[in-house]
Amino acid sequence: MFNIGLTILYEDLCPEWLKLCRDNGISDLCIHKIAVPGTDSIGELLVQLSAPGGFRLIDELNDAGVETPFQLHALEWLLPRQLFDNHPEWFRMDENGKRTPDLNLCASSRPALDMISQQTYHLAGALKQRSNRYHLWLDDAFGGSCHCPDCKKLNSSDQYLKILSAILHGLRARNSKAELSFLSYGTVLDVPTKKPEKGIFLEFAPMDRDHDLPLNSPDPRGRKYIELLGKLEKVFDFAESEVLEYWLDDALYSGYKRPPVKVPFNEEVCRADCVLYKEAGFKTIRSFASFIGADYFELHGKPPIAEYVSAVAGR
Ligand SMILES: [Zn+2]
Repeated sequence: MFNIGLTILYEDLCPEWLKLCRDNGISDLCIHKIAVPGTDSIGELLVQLSAPGGFRLIDELNDAGVETPFQLHALEWLLPRQLFDNHPEWFRMDENGKRTPDLNLCASSRPALDMISQQTYHLAGALKQRSNRYHLWLDDAFGGSCHCPDCKKLNSSDQYLKILSAILHGLRARNSKAELSFLSYGTVLDVPTKKPEKGIFLEFAPMDRDHDLPLNSPDPRGRKYIELLGKLEKVFDFAESEVLEYWLDDALYSGYKRPPVKVPFNEEVCRADCVLYKEAGFKTIRSFASFIGADYFELHGKPPIAEYVSAVAGR
């Protein structure tokens, strides 16, 4: 089955989304938080969710048959930075040989990985996600791998697989059917040297592309991603993989500042990209649609969701 999804921000959840999902046959609305490293975005989300009515719209969407997986840069919550004082060796080593709690962790530290498994178990309990596919990502940054003597032998993807294995372990203690996203983005822009364990699926998020040109255009940023896709295809089953695109990512187009601009949906680019992704074998295609919430509906009316669904479906 082909799956057309969207990813919105938790704070943009509003009743209009229930109607948009119903009207456009969207059965997959992921919930995201913008996560500048060091701002404890997950801590903030958990406070919002635990407030009265914090799950109300999520429950209504779920009851209407719309799945609402969370897509979260969770690492700084899974390994709290204050542990650095007592356990600097749990954290990554930068290029200068210095341990730092700025991003992610040391993927060769067994105690750090065990802490991540435990914390994942708690996070999954608090999120109460009903679907089995999870997206708990590294910190939202580039260059966040570990350069310690042990990690240095591994590329960023192989380091990532060790971290994902720890997260998956924590998830499965909560949900034996849990699967976990390998987000090809940010710190991880190379390819694993071995097949990932069962239950880890690819999520391809080409943020650093030219959003005004089809991915498969001569633009060098697009070419880089096409090459990456070719390599990823040897390691991941694309039928199980997901695309996470930016065609409707109004936070990006608004420069991450509200009020949101009217989303400049480029239907032609979206259509061309979807032909490429479908030919490659992807069965799930999703776009960020952040900054499309109550303020957007008030300012700009209906966002081009019907147009997006038609473009992805190739109608
Ligand atoms: Zn390391």
